[in-house]
Amino acid sequence: MITKTKLPPWLKRPLPAGKQYNATDNILSSLNLQTICTNANCPNRGECWARGTATVLILGNICTRNCKFCSVATGKPKPPDTTEPQRLAALAKKMALKYMVITSVDRDDLPDGGAAHFRDCVNTVRKNCPDMKFEILTPDFQKCREPALKILTQALPFVFAHNIETVPSLYPVARSGGDYNLSLGLLKKAKVTFPDTITKSSIMLGLGETDDEIKKVLNDLRSVGCDRITIGQYLKPSKNSLDVIKYITPEKFDSWKQKAYEMGFSWVISAPFARSSYFAEKENTQ
Ligand code: SF4
Repeated sequence: MITKTKLPPWLKRPLPAGKQYNATDNILSSLNLQTICTNANCPNRGECWARGTATVLILGNICTRNCKFCSVATGKPKPPDTTEPQRLAALAKKMALKYMVITSVDRDDLPDGGAAHFRDCVNTVRKNCPDMKFEILTPDFQKCREPALKILTQALPFVFAHNIETVPSLYPVARSGGDYNLSLGLLKKAKVTFPDTITKSSIMLGLGETDDEIKKVLNDLRSVGCDRITIGQYLKPSKNSLDVIKYITPEKFDSWKQKAYEMGFSWVISAPFARSSYFAEKENTQ
């Protein structure tokens, strides 16, 4: 590992551009859809959009929480837009998608945390594209876990994902509105509620965590039956976000990949640019 300051060479990428990138951009704009790619300043946007993939952000782009690793705006969100499921269906058709990743901001203002809107989005797209595989990346449904999961049984995804994001000791600085055990509990309960659905999580490195803490998180995730994991480098997405403490080398990410397989994860992406939805459609990562 090396310490922060200058961006290491493996983190330099070309600016997003190209015909397919522009086509993805135009389709998303014409349907007035939000993506986490843009709202979170994801470094993979050029690559993913040029491959014709994007992660849709439903329920608006204003979050009720204020996590310090994230650049999504905080405030009072608008009520769910009932036209959104149909616009997602149009996106699936226009982009000829076979795999759709849907995520949302935290909606602590809604009694079901937004679960019914997730359900409506999945079911509406599914009606038009019956073979579509869905990956939903949800908030922690802090005050409504049981009812939210019950609602989601009406629209079972291929993958249910919820990000643990960082090690428990860093929750107070990085994810102050979250609760490590609650997030683990959600993944556990999801596995029990939808036994045939794959569960997935994601962790960012470089915020000051130790190797032992990372190992503990991976073990905790396996103990709740989590099947898939992505491990990536935290990169400061906006000037008000937390600073990077360390840049982890690609070799170290490879060794985490190896360890994660040894622990029993069946699908692992561990690399500097790994993000929760990065190459989510990939069937095999070994
Ligand atoms: S990794 Fe995910 S969030 Fe980032 S650009 Fe790709 S699809 Fe979008």
